[in-house]
Amino acid sequence: MEGLTGKSVCVVDGKEVKKGYRIKEDFVIRTIRSIKKSLGIAKNNKLFVCEEHKELLIKKRKNYERIAIIISVSLAALFIFAVFLPLIEGRLTVFSFISFLLITVLMFGMLFLSHVPRIEEKLSKVGTTSTSKNKRSSLKSKSENKGNKSGRVIKHKKRKTKAKKKGK
Ligand SMILES: [Zn+2]
Repeated sequence: MEGLTGKSVCVVDGKEVKKGYRIKEDFVIRTIRSIKKSLGIAKNNKLFVCEEHKELLIKKRKNYERIAIIISVSLAALFIFAVFLPLIEGRLTVFSFISFLLITVLMFGMLFLSHVPRIEEKLSKVGTTSTSKNKRSSLKSKSENKGNKSGRVIKHKKRKTKAKKKGK
C-alpha cells in the first residue's frame, strides 16, 4: 500500500470510496501494477471494496479460488500422465511436452486475467491501516477524519454500476 499516491477506489466498480474494506495487494495485483508502471499508465490507486460490493467480491473470490484449485490439480495430473510417466518410460515426445507447456501457460494466463483479489481486513476507513508500519499515518488520518465524522459514505447507484459493468 505504501507509495500509492492515487485515489482510494472500489475494485468492483472503480469508484472512489470514503469507507471500505482493504484489498490484499497480492502477486497478480503487484505484477499488473509494475507492468502499468513500466508503460507509464499506473494510477497507483489504493484498492478497497465498498460495503455494497463486499458480498459480491467474496462470492467471486470463492469461485475464483475453486477454479484455481481445479486448474492446478488438472495440470498436476496432466503433468504426471503426459510428461512424467512418459519420460520415465522413455516415450515422451517433444510434441506432448510442448503441448503441456502451452496448456499450462494458457491456463495460468486465464487465471491471471480473471483474477479476483481478496479482502485483507475488517472495515476500515480509507487511509487507515492495521500494520504497525503505517500506524503513524493512520493516526494522523484518523484525527483528520474527526472533522467530518458525519461519515460521507458513498452510495452507489445500482443502475449505473450495472451499466458500467456491461460496458467493461
Ligand atoms: Zn463498490
